[in-house]
Order: sequence, then C-alpha cells, then structure tokens
Amino acid sequence: MRTLTLIILIIAMMNTSCDDPSRMANNPLYSTSSLPFEAPDFDLIEPGHFSEAFIDGMAFQLEEIEEIVSNEDEPNFENTMVAMERSGELLNRARRIFSNLTSAHTNEELQQIQSEFAPKFAAHSDNIWLNNDLFDRVITLYEQKDELNLDPASIKLIEDTHRNFIRAGARLDSDQQQRMRQINERISTLTTQFQENLLALNRERVVLTDDVEMLDGLSRDRIAAAKEAAESRGFEGQYLLSITNTTRVPALTGLNNREMRRKLWEASANRGLGENDGIDTRPIVLELAELRAERAELLGYPNFATFALEPQTAQSPDNVLNMLSDLIPSVINNTERESELILNMMREDGIDDQLQPWDWEFYAEKVRKAEYDIDESEVRPYFELDRVLKDGVFYAMERFYGISFEERFDLPVYHPEVRVFNVFDHDGTQLGLFYADYFSRDSKRGGAWMNSFVIQSHLTGQRPVIVNVLNIAPPAEGEPALISFSNVTTLFHEMGHAVHGLFSYVEYPSQAGTSVPRDFVEFPSTFEEDWAIHPEVLSNYAIHYETGEQIPQELLDRVIAARSFNQGFDTYEYLGATMVDMEWHLLSSNETPDDVVAFELSALKKYNLDWEAVPPRYRSAYFSHIFSGGYSANYYAYIWSEILAADAFAFMRDRGGLTRENGDHYRKHILSRGGSADAMDLYREFRGGDPDVNNLLIRRGLDSE
Ligand SMILES: [Zn+2]
Repeated sequence: MRTLTLIILIIAMMNTSCDDPSRMANNPLYSTSSLPFEAPDFDLIEPGHFSEAFIDGMAFQLEEIEEIVSNEDEPNFENTMVAMERSGELLNRARRIFSNLTSAHTNEELQQIQSEFAPKFAAHSDNIWLNNDLFDRVITLYEQKDELNLDPASIKLIEDTHRNFIRAGARLDSDQQQRMRQINERISTLTTQFQENLLALNRERVVLTDDVEMLDGLSRDRIAAAKEAAESRGFEGQYLLSITNTTRVPALTGLNNREMRRKLWEASANRGLGENDGIDTRPIVLELAELRAERAELLGYPNFATFALEPQTAQSPDNVLNMLSDLIPSVINNTERESELILNMMREDGIDDQLQPWDWEFYAEKVRKAEYDIDESEVRPYFELDRVLKDGVFYAMERFYGISFEERFDLPVYHPEVRVFNVFDHDGTQLGLFYADYFSRDSKRGGAWMNSFVIQSHLTGQRPVIVNVLNIAPPAEGEPALISFSNVTTLFHEMGHAVHGLFSYVEYPSQAGTSVPRDFVEFPSTFEEDWAIHPEVLSNYAIHYETGEQIPQELLDRVIAARSFNQGFDTYEYLGATMVDMEWHLLSSNETPDDVVAFELSALKKYNLDWEAVPPRYRSAYFSHIFSGGYSANYYAYIWSEILAADAFAFMRDRGGLTRENGDHYRKHILSRGGSADAMDLYREFRGGDPDVNNLLIRRGLDSE
C-alpha cells in the first residue's frame, strides 16, 4: 500500500507539465473561486481535493521557481521578487482553507492528509529556500537594493527574503545543506509525534471514580458530563474527569474533595513522564532540543534562542530575559499576597497544611466569590452572544474605525453554525468578508484563533476573507447563548486579529495583515480586548436578555475588579513556562541534559520561579507550544505583545479614547501596514516613542513594588 502511494506520488510529481485535465475540471481548488471575494466554495470542496491540490501545487510552484531561475535576463525586482510573490497560488489557496478546516472542523480523512503532508511541506520549503541559483538572484538584488529606486516595502521584501534564505541554510555547503534537510525532516517527524502523544495522553491520563460524592462541588452539568464520558469509554456506572492542555485543570476550581483534587492535578502535571509504563515524551524533548541547537549552530548561531529571536522585535534572548526579569519581583510579591488570602481560606476550612498546587485554584475561587461576590450565573444573562457581537464588538469597531458589518446567508460554509458578514468601510466600500464560527464541537480543536481564507494584496488584487473561531459552549436547543465575561473578552481579542487582516493595505502577499513578528502579532488582538470594559461600549451590549435592563453598575464594578484577581498567579505560572522555554533553547547541542525534570527545575530556580504551589503553565513533557507548535523560544511573545497593547491603549485613552480620529490613527500606522515595515518603527510612529512597561502592570492590576 505504501509503495503504491509512493509510486503514484512520483508519477504525479513528474507529470506536472501535462496536467490531468479531469482534475483541473473537477477539483474546485484548482481555480480561483467565482464567489464574492474568492470565498471558498465549501459546498464543492471534498477532503480528497486537498491531496491533489497539494501534490500539484507543490509541483507547480517548483516549476515557477525553475522558470525564475532559468530566466536569461538579469535578475530584476519584477522577474525575481514579484515572480516569487506570485508563485504557489494553488498551494497557498489550498493550504489556507485546509489549515482552518483541520482546526475547526476536522475528520479522520483530513487528519490523515495532514500527517502525510507535514514532512512533505517541510521538504518543499527546503526545495525553495535551499535553491542556490534562486538565492544568487536574490543576492544580486540585495546588493543593488539601494540603487533600484524602490519604495520601502519593496526594499524590505528583498531584505526579508535574503534573510530567509540565509536562515534556511542557503549559505551552507552541500554537505551541511544535506544535514540541514535531515534535521528539518526529523524535527517535523518529532513534532508531529509529540502532538500525537499529547492527544493520546489526554485520553490516557484520566481520573475515574465510582463514588459520585468524590465529585462534590462540581455543577450538575459537569457531573452528568463525567458520567457520560466514563460510559462512552466503557466504564459503566463510573465518573471520568479528564485533563486539558495546561497544568491547571478547570475542574480543580470546584472539587471539594482534596484527595480527588490531588489525583486530578497529578494526572495533569505528571503526564508524559512514562508513569506506569505510559507514554514518555521526554526522549522527544531531548532530541528536539539537541537538533534545534545543532541547526542553529550550523547556521552560525550559539543556540536556537538566538537564532529564533533575531527576526523578532525582541531581537535577542538578553532583551527578553532583561524585560521579564524586571517583572519577576512584582509578580512574586503579588502572588505571595494572593497566597495569604488563600491560606486564610484554607484554615477557615480546617486545613492546616502547606499550600499545594491542587489547592490554589480551588481556594482562589472561594476568595473570588468572597471578595468580589461574583457568581457566573448572575453575570451571564447580561452577555447574550448575539448582542455582545453586534452591540459590543461590531459597535466598538464602528465607533473606532467607522466600519460596519452586515450578515449574509448566500455563501457556502463548512459547518451550519458558521456565519458570514460583509464588512463595509466608513465610505461604504466593501473591505472584505468576515466569517464567525463560535461554538465548540467535537470536530474542533480547543482555543480560539483567526485565519485567512484569502489575504489582501494589491499585487494579486485580492481582498481579505477572514474567519474567527472560538470555543463557546453551545446553548441547549432553543435557548439563548449566554456567555462568560472571559468569552466576551475573547470575542474582542479575535476581532483584533480580524481587523489586522481586514485593514491590510499592502502590495505583497507575504507582507499582508498578520504577517508580522510573532511577538507583535498579539498586540492588535490584545489591544481590542480593552474595549470590552469601555463604559460606552459596555452599556451598549451588557443588557439582560429577558428584562432588557442594563447591567447594574455595582455588578459591573465587581466584574471589572475581579479581572485583576489571581493575576499574580496567572503571570507567575506563565513566566515559569516562558523561562523553561528560554532555557531549553539557550542550550548548545553538546549541553543537552539527561534529565528533563531536573533541568526544568533548575531553569525555574534560576529565575526564582520554583515555588511548588505555582507550577509552570506547561511543563516540558507536555509543552505543545514549544515542542509541537511554532512557539519555540517564542512563548514570551504573549506578554511582550501585551506590553505594546497596554501601552497603545493607554496612549489612545489619553488622546480621548473611542474616537474615529484615534481609530484612523491606529489603523493608518499599525493595522493597514501588516509586515510592510519594521514592526517597532511602526509602533514608534504610531506612539511617538517607546512603550512603557508600567502600563502592562497597571493593565494586569499588579502593583509595581
Ligand atoms: Zn491572539
């Protein structure tokens, strides 16, 4: 079976110049969609279409690259840079649609295609970035760039492309390039394995009980779900609690039984360590750390972190470590203060013991209730999803940017719950399309994200088609969707990514929208979050779904005050994970330790973040962001972006807040520019100076001393 696939693949690769005409005619991915804004025609797309489009798409792009390279004319901007930007049309179109489908509405067939093509995409990328003849043409342009009479975005395109070649290994000799290809392929296999292991661990590491008393404190819905979960796995009459991505597990906030909490916490925090002959991810962690270091060394960097941070706004590991180290003392102080309240609460409960990690969230929840008197069921009726979306998110966008949203029902979607909106600019012209996919379901992975089906570019004439995906618990049949305040914040957050894509106004596809450094990309999204509590916006959307009354001011005050509660703990566990990430990637290839857990502990100790009651948000053995996602040596990016977001919002507030003038200023300098200029230059132009870190502490409600 495997050989057969391989042969078919080779034939397909060889056959590219005489395309299979039936494929061209029957596969909707092969041509530009005729729907408005080239919206994907989900009614026609089937999983099998992707494999065809990937195989041919890669082959077509290599042909295009070959054409560029074999052009006998001297390299110029048009015949090299522009030609590269235009290449890979089919592959890019198919991958954009595929990437959202495999996250938002996947199935076995799509998953299979995904794991089959992951290493092939890695090899394809090497085929372009390790092409010496192509690199030679780029070098020629790079050397002439200042005499070519180009605009700054075009010069940046040459510089970035040149740097991408070097970073991919284009300057290495052929033996080294061979090794580079091996490393890339191995890394791609290992990261896929790590991801598969984590999925299996989520299934394996469960806590079962046949005594419902052990679940005391959980809601009736949750207990019913635990019973169902056990039954679906063949454990009739039992209850099953499962873990989530992070060390923390949501059920820990409710479980009254301390022993049960300990078990659940340990199921989560000790996963991947091979307990009871279970899955052990530590060999993958060690091999990845070593391979990444070797890859960086091949390219002339002392370690992977230095390599990874070079194109980021942070630029170097030292800059990250300095900034984060400045935060650590105030974070520890705040966390200690929170722990005192928690210890008091424990003593009131008759527990005279050390504070354990499985106690924290449980008693934090009690403190939250006591101090802020917040009961979710009291708040939710004021946050009805549709009203939050239209009278909150869309309203804020209209007030700030002058844009408007209008739902349409004529475009095909990949799931009946997906909604589509026209987005109009302040002058009435249409900017693009916005898709909203808000409810969780089995075919969707966890978390929330933005994706682009079509990206804006003057060069290709395309305008943006953007989707926001969330995981809001669906309401019961016929009931309104009443959502949590944290869901409300996420709606605003993802809209921040969406407008980054929608307002994109650039020439080149590779510079469009969210194509910015990773430690900059969460800035626009985090920035929009703060409109959720702007009095004018809030009073417009926080309306009781039955009575039509506005949320009472004192309840609102409590909701807002509760936002800063537990921020010490949240920031502490986040920083712990960040430092573990940095330390793994600061190693050279001959410094790889033997013991994953001991190494992690020494990393935490080094930064004074080794308090046992506050373990890192992710421990190495299940840190998917850095061992299977794209955040290796980049986990700091969230807080780095938040510094900009907090500072930018404070700047806007001081200039009058929610005004069209402010919205235009921000759109002009940040959102419309995508990756067409240096990110920090854009920020300084917008702000008139550098960001002030104190605005982050204020935003998080952390005292600075
Ligand atoms: Zn985000």
